[in-house]
Amino acid sequence: MSSTWHILGAGSLGSLWACRLARAGKAVRLILRDTQRLAAYQAAGGLTLVEQERVCRYAIPAQTDDAPGPIHRLLLACKAYDAAPAVARLAPRLAHGAEIVLLQNGLGSQDEVAEQAPHARCIFASSTEGAFREQDWRVNFAGHGFNWLGDPAKPTPPEWFADLHEAGIPAQWTPDILSRLWRKLALNCAINPLTVLHDCQNGGLLGHLTEVCGLCEELAVLLQRCGQPLAAENLDEEVQRVILATAANYSSMYQDVHHGRRTEVHYLLGHACRSAARHGVAIDRLEQLHRRLVDNLRARGLPSA
Ligand code: NAP
Repeated sequence: MSSTWHILGAGSLGSLWACRLARAGKAVRLILRDTQRLAAYQAAGGLTLVEQERVCRYAIPAQTDDAPGPIHRLLLACKAYDAAPAVARLAPRLAHGAEIVLLQNGLGSQDEVAEQAPHARCIFASSTEGAFREQDWRVNFAGHGFNWLGDPAKPTPPEWFADLHEAGIPAQWTPDILSRLWRKLALNCAINPLTVLHDCQNGGLLGHLTEVCGLCEELAVLLQRCGQPLAAENLDEEVQRVILATAANYSSMYQDVHHGRRTEVHYLLGHACRSAARHGVAIDRLEQLHRRLVDNLRARGLPSA
C-alpha cells in the first residue's frame, strides 16, 4: 500500500495537517476543488503555516480529484456538508481497503461518507486543535489541542498511526471515538446556537444559564438513549466550565454566521434532533432551539441545513 497522505481540502485543518506531515518528511498530496483553485495554489507556491513567530512555506504537490493514480490513505479535511459529495467524486480512485480519516465536526457526515466508499475503512477523528485561514493558502495555528482517532468498526489502530507522532500531531487512538464525538456535539448544541441567537461571546451565556441548563438536561437524556452514557456524565458542569474558560471567545457557529458562511448545524443540533426523533425522545427545548436557529439563519440568507 502506498504511504502517501492524500489530503482533501487545503483549508484550516487540512493545511495544518499537511504542513506538519510534509515537515516530517511524509509524502503528502493536496486535492483541491478544481483547476482554478489548483492554479491559484500553484501561483502562491505552496502552503504557509504561521505558528506564533514562526512562518514557513511548504511547497506540497497538489492535484484535482480527477488526477490519475489510486488513493490508499485520505485525510478528509473539508466541512461536514462537503464530505460525502467530495468522496463520491474521489470514489473511482479509492483503492480497495483504502483508509479515510474524517476530520469533520459533529455526526452524520461519517455515515454519509461510508455510503459513498463502502470498501474503505473510515477512521473518525475528534480534534480540539484550532486553526484559521489568514488568507488562501496561509493558515494560522491558533490553538494547541489534541486529536482522538478511532474506528467504531475495528479496534486496532492503522499501521501509519506513528506518522502522527513523528509529525508532531498530538493524537491518541481510542475505542471510544463515538462517545467523544457525541460529547463534543452535545457541548456544541448547548453553547453555539445560543451564541448566535443572543449575539454574544461564549461568556454572554452566563446571563442565560437557565436556558443552557435546560438544554443540558435534554441532551443528557438523549445521550443515554443513544447508548452514550459516558458522554452524558456531568454534561452541565462541563458546559459551564467551557463557557467560563472560553468566555471571551466567539463560537465557531457564531463566526461562521458573522462571516456569512454556511454553518454545520445539520451535523450538530440537526443531528441531535433527528436522533431524538428516531429514538422517540421528547426534546422540546432542543427542537425549539433548532427552529429559532433555522429561522435566524434563513433571515440572514444562509442555508439552514
Ligand atoms: P475550512 O477552513 O473551511 O476548509 C475546508 C476546505 O475544504 C476548503 O479549503 C475547501 O476548499 C475544501 N473543500 C471543500 N470541498 C472540496 C472538494 N470537493 N475538493 C477539494 N477541496 C474541498 O474548514 P476547517 O475549519 O478546516 O474545518 C474542517 C472540519 O474540521 C470541519 O468539520 C470543522 O468543524 C472541523 N474542525 C475545525 C477546526 C478548526 O480549528 N478550523 C477545529 C476542529 C474541528 P475551498 O478553499 O476551495 O473552499
